[in-house]
Amino acid sequence: VPLPERKLISGVRREVQRAPSGRGSLAAGIGDDCALLRVPPRHQILVTTDFTLEGVHFRREWHPPRSVGHRCLARGLSDIAAMGGEPVAAFLSLALPAKLPQKWVDDFMGGLLVLAKQFGVPLAGGDTASSPAGIMADIVVVGALPRGEAVLRSTARPGDLVFVSGALGGSAAALQLLYAGKRLDPRSYPAHFFPAPRIEVARRLRRAEIVTSMIDLSDGLSTDLRHICEESRVGAEISAQSIPQAKFRDGAVELDLALHGGEDYELLFTARPGTRVPRSVAGVPITHVGRITRGRKIVLLPENGSRSELESRGWEHFRSTR
Ligand SMILES: [Mg+2]
Repeated sequence: VPLPERKLISGVRREVQRAPSGRGSLAAGIGDDCALLRVPPRHQILVTTDFTLEGVHFRREWHPPRSVGHRCLARGLSDIAAMGGEPVAAFLSLALPAKLPQKWVDDFMGGLLVLAKQFGVPLAGGDTASSPAGIMADIVVVGALPRGEAVLRSTARPGDLVFVSGALGGSAAALQLLYAGKRLDPRSYPAHFFPAPRIEVARRLRRAEIVTSMIDLSDGLSTDLRHICEESRVGAEISAQSIPQAKFRDGAVELDLALHGGEDYELLFTARPGTRVPRSVAGVPITHVGRITRGRKIVLLPENGSRSELESRGWEHFRSTR
């Protein structure tokens, strides 16, 4: 076993032993053939898995390892949030190039574990291998929620109102600067480098029985709204002037970035008309941006001018490593 792998495994094992036992979700972790999870009675299990690939989801020259580790876990936690669930445990498989400095791995783990601690999620296992080309991380997050309470994409109905949490486009705006060759201080652009998964917002929305459908904004509003519409067999109307455009430097991001930019990890959800939806949940602003319609079209209502179909300009990952 090469040294980095040994260090990694012992590091992960230490984390598991330090995992908060109060939650009681982990009956046995690293050191056995499988992690053994305790399922709370009358709960269902959520599982999500996401790749983080060098050159596709991050670049070593743009993203410090702490940010890569944070974003790796944030993607999984955000998917658990999108269903209204509580995270239970995370599993990490890493393929690392032989020449990767141990410091990079340590900082990557550091960034991931700070976020894990913040959400009380034990890292309960994983695997390591050497990679012939580039860093590859696969995160699996297991969550739970009371049986029948998962918030789906397929349950929006015509007449429902559409809401988003937080502000949109901030992550894509930072990415645009990186593409333009700017060096960024990660602490000044948390929306991109250290996004906050909306676990608490989603949990409160589910418990208050406010939401009829929900998705997390990983690919961008225009694409993720289409996922809701396709799964629910409905259309939507979105009002351009209501979109919460992220603050950026001295102003706000362009509308296009707020509509199409990915990786904000905010929530998009629907609620029946007449439901009292708070203006903020767990300190995060909630904004009414449109409504669900019959038919299958997604329409953008501009501030002035004529309505147009909102095309899904999907999130483009970095096209190549170099
Ligand atoms: Mg998702």
